[in-house]
Amino acid sequence: MIDRSRISWLYDGDGVLTAALIPIDEWRRYEASLSPKESDAESPADAMEEFGRFMASWDYRYDYDPAVACPVCSAATKDWRDDPERPFTLKTASLGGTLLFRCNRCEATVRHKYFRYNFETDAFPASN
Ligand SMILES: [Zn+2]
Repeated sequence: MIDRSRISWLYDGDGVLTAALIPIDEWRRYEASLSPKESDAESPADAMEEFGRFMASWDYRYDYDPAVACPVCSAATKDWRDDPERPFTLKTASLGGTLLFRCNRCEATVRHKYFRYNFETDAFPASN
């Protein structure tokens, strides 16, 4: 929440309130509390469909673990599918056994590769 006592109210020449000015440190605290933009954090529908097919054809010798962790910035979730913070966005899923996630904190790509008896994960920092 923004500390209302620190807001400067701006009025036009007729005395009509037109804007609110907040100190940058207040804004930064507030901004950090906002959820990531839905359009950025939402997994594309086709990726979710692919994921559905991936899960439907699951025949690996272990249960699917929906935890994702980013080794670049250490963001982590126990379940990327229903974490309200949406730390990871599924970008692509392939029936061959590869899931690619984007870390929404540092934009690294986190890859999960599934094999019959184990899975491996690695990551690539965002390229600038
Ligand atoms: Zn990260």
